[in-house]
Amino acid sequence: MKNDAQVVSDIYGFSLWSDGLVDVTDRGDLALRNPSDDTPPVSLPQVMDALAQRGISAPIQLRVQPFLDRSLARLHDAFSDAFRETKYRGVYRGVFPVKVNQQSDVIERLTEAGRAYHFGLEVGSKPELLIALAQSLSPEALLICNGAKDAAFIHLAILSQKLGFNTIIVLESLYEFEIVYRIAQELDVRPTLGVRIKLTETVTGKWQASSGDRSVFGLSALDVVKLTARLEETGFMDCLVLQHTHLGSQVPNIMDVRRAATEACRFYVELSRMGAPLQHLDLGGGLGIDYTGERRPDENSVNYTVNEYCANLVETVRYAMDDAGIEHPTIVTESGRFVVAQSAIFVFNILGATLYDNLEKVEVQEGDHHLLSDLLAVEAYIDGPRLQEALNDAIYYRDEIRALFRRGQIDLQLLARAEQAFLYLLSRFKAASKLEENAGQIDEQLTGFVDYYHGNFSLFQSLPDVWAIDQLHPIMPLQRLDEEPTRSAILTDITCDSDGKIDQFVLADGTAGALPVHELRDGEDYYIGVFFVGAYQETLGDLHNLFGDPNVVTISLDGEGGFDIEHETEGDTIAQVLSYVEYDPQDCLSTFRKTVEKAVKAGKVNAAERRTMIAAYKDSLAGSTYFGTDS
Ligand SMILES: *Cc1c(COP(=O)(O)O)cnc(C)c1O
Repeated sequence: MKNDAQVVSDIYGFSLWSDGLVDVTDRGDLALRNPSDDTPPVSLPQVMDALAQRGISAPIQLRVQPFLDRSLARLHDAFSDAFRETKYRGVYRGVFPVKVNQQSDVIERLTEAGRAYHFGLEVGSKPELLIALAQSLSPEALLICNGAKDAAFIHLAILSQKLGFNTIIVLESLYEFEIVYRIAQELDVRPTLGVRIKLTETVTGKWQASSGDRSVFGLSALDVVKLTARLEETGFMDCLVLQHTHLGSQVPNIMDVRRAATEACRFYVELSRMGAPLQHLDLGGGLGIDYTGERRPDENSVNYTVNEYCANLVETVRYAMDDAGIEHPTIVTESGRFVVAQSAIFVFNILGATLYDNLEKVEVQEGDHHLLSDLLAVEAYIDGPRLQEALNDAIYYRDEIRALFRRGQIDLQLLARAEQAFLYLLSRFKAASKLEENAGQIDEQLTGFVDYYHGNFSLFQSLPDVWAIDQLHPIMPLQRLDEEPTRSAILTDITCDSDGKIDQFVLADGTAGALPVHELRDGEDYYIGVFFVGAYQETLGDLHNLFGDPNVVTISLDGEGGFDIEHETEGDTIAQVLSYVEYDPQDCLSTFRKTVEKAVKAGKVNAAERRTMIAAYKDSLAGSTYFGTDS
């Protein structure tokens, strides 16, 4: 690894957030590292080129299998360590909440790699239950059913117990128990039950509303007492083996984790004293990812590591149980984000740029309006103490010239020259502010004039949380990291929506409104990587403007600087997305055919043109919704 490369690339703060998963090669490429060994890193731009040669082009959702394996191992190792240190006598049984990433490739890998840990699944709906029942889990793994359930859901869940699944039906309401009670009697089986408790403790972060007594999920203290009475009355008390709580995702502050676990333990102790034969304490999800690498209790960061998280939980549970003289329960967590977020990288290519500066100077001409000469005169005092004044003046003169154009007092030629003069001055301002010591205010004004780099992606399809909840992901160019980036850009997507852009970035010195990027070169791909996108993004994405799923490729690293393709799913074709919105692509084609045929009859197109037109329509139907490589 070359030192220069490291230094330049660290503008992006990747040494803060990369978590040992990526590195920079001596050619300045961002590279994937196998976290479990010291084998040569794999250049990401080379992966993209190699995939493109095979006809799999950007945008690509790239899953890196060893990254997934590592998160899984880390979680389990962290619990083992915590158990050893606190002499805990129970075990850990993690489950993966299917909603966090339902893609078959991911679930299959998790159940396969998870078998050694007796890793199970958590489902929150009937479709997710069907997914779980189609996996072969370890006989000791748990299958936890959360969420609102109807009779069909409960029926299937109870039946699955006969097949050897350790299915636990977590009661979310008193009403749900009545359905369970009826079906269990009909089937004459003893169901295994859990109860979801609504804690009074609240947490900070984006999912605050999932916690506290206004949470829509779970039973309040009052309901819990009613439920136990009902369980006693029906003789089902001995079915209650698990207590569940969930505070919401991405809990930023370890103090909240500890406080909530303490309250959960109080419920566990009380329920046990009331006669419930509880064995599992399920503490839900919430284990966060440090997307910014800042290590602080912020919406996109966390002030703890996975080891601290596990140590805090285990210690809290151990003390609470020892105080109450209760057996140490099996600790369950439903850590979804932690397990999958880091395992995927979304990569897209830049199609072009709209630059907000111009190095070409404009000269004053005879008869120019005086406002244009005033604008051009600003250049004389850019350097030095009058920088701010110069910027104010330039903006003023430009705006006055635009006003003259609107009133019909100057022509388009002059307006265009004024716009170019302004862009020229902007490049001078950008250069001058870099030299300025106290350029804070000016830099801020200049962020209004950063470039747009147009990316071949849909924010709504591939990064929905960036749009909906201002999720920050580490984002950076994948190449030329040994070269100083000379421009700053906002990334725009190819939807026709002004919301379709990324304008918040994680950088080494905090978050910024623009991403440092390199000047684009003709005929050379420029890839941008969005990291840690393995959780929640894929199925939350939507078909805005009918941009469909991108290509998805799962790779493993071969230990010699290369990679193997483990799995590949082609992105949606246009015909597929049309059918999602209820068009029949064949009908569309035949209508188009008729229209073309009519034009032939009317002599507007000839037979050869007809052939190309139909072929173009057909090719498009079978093609990707994104821009092709030749566009
Ligand atoms: C969404 C969800 C999870 C996953 O939370 P993460 O923060 O992604 O680990 C776990 N349990 C329940 C009940 C959930 O709804």
